[in-house]
Amino acid sequence: MEWKITCIPGDGIGPEIVAEAKKVLDAVAGKYGHVMHCTDILMGGASIDVHGVPLTKEAVEAAKSADAVLMGSIGGDAATSPWYQLPPNLRPEAGLLAIRKELNLFANLRPAVLYDELVEACPLKTEIAAAGFDMMIMRELTGGLYFGERRTTEENGVKTAVDTLVYNENEIRRIAVKAFEIAKKRRGKVTSVDKANVLDSSRLWRQVVEEVAKEYKEVTLQHMLVDNCAMQLVKDPAQFDVILTENMFGDILSDEASMVTGSIGMLASASLNDTKFGLYEPSHGSAPDIAGKDLANPIATVLSAAMMLRYSFDLDEEADAVERAVKQILKEGYRTSDIMSDGCRLVGCRQMGDLLAKRI
Ligand code: NAD
Repeated sequence: MEWKITCIPGDGIGPEIVAEAKKVLDAVAGKYGHVMHCTDILMGGASIDVHGVPLTKEAVEAAKSADAVLMGSIGGDAATSPWYQLPPNLRPEAGLLAIRKELNLFANLRPAVLYDELVEACPLKTEIAAAGFDMMIMRELTGGLYFGERRTTEENGVKTAVDTLVYNENEIRRIAVKAFEIAKKRRGKVTSVDKANVLDSSRLWRQVVEEVAKEYKEVTLQHMLVDNCAMQLVKDPAQFDVILTENMFGDILSDEASMVTGSIGMLASASLNDTKFGLYEPSHGSAPDIAGKDLANPIATVLSAAMMLRYSFDLDEEADAVERAVKQILKEGYRTSDIMSDGCRLVGCRQMGDLLAKRI
């Protein structure tokens, strides 16, 4: 089959890690007989340097015309980079916010997987880590407290601040459908996380999720209060398959889940809209401290590319092959410096990409 991918190498280590993900995609295309056309666009600091703005209309159009977008990371060192002397709407991060909005990306997916070979990096107790975990956190990205009306007022010298948490049933339904569809491709369980004992928005969330669940008899639905979920993530993370939750709860829980894996260079992510289209990127930033030194771990970007194969192109077998290659390379003892441990073989970003491509 033939696919159009728009790539955003971005800033810092972005171009290095995207180059390695492309190598792996080329290997997949070669082995399985696909054609993948990759076109690069500029965004963030790289776009500011050339066009004076972090995202041009032409770049947005190029992203929209593709089947999916694969991104590295954007941004620089805020203390030293001239990009951060610019007004906020012209800084690198403004490009990322703008493209997410333009592409109507409302569902954020962050897998948290503990690989057997990296179990030492997991900060949890040995017996909990030994059980392993492989979960997908699905966070609503465009509603809730971060987008509701807010104001600060002052009366008789006392300041009062108000933020509003708003969801309508359509916003809840569209992300619930995504979560159940993704659970079907995994182990068939959705844990919907809310605060229904207190919040009206959570009670509506629960009601709509239950309605959607009726259409997915093969998927098990469980409800969990957010405070309990925060505890369960460190007590028994193996119980989770897909965690579905609203914007702020997801912001906090996905960072918690990332931390328990212990390795930032391994964490993929995806943001989806209501078609098959998605933007795929590692969860980490542009790591300006190691940029250009062949030190970056490209695995998070490679695993993001695997998510693109699975969720935008429905190429499950090919996505499995990429994920298997990552496990194989870890088993063989190859490590970039961020995940290095005694007795393993240290490799750079490029060599890691070559090894992964060869194992496809
Ligand atoms: P960061 O994730 O870039 O780096 C944190 C630490 O992790 C650094 O020590 C870095 O060297 C290391 N690290 C990150 N990714 C790595 C990898 N693949 N391999 C090896 N080590 C890795 O976070 P930061 O330093 O807070 O942010 C740097 C820049 O990235 C900032 O400009 C920030 O705004 C931007 N940022 C961008 C995104 C994005 O593009 N989506 C996300 C987060 C941060």
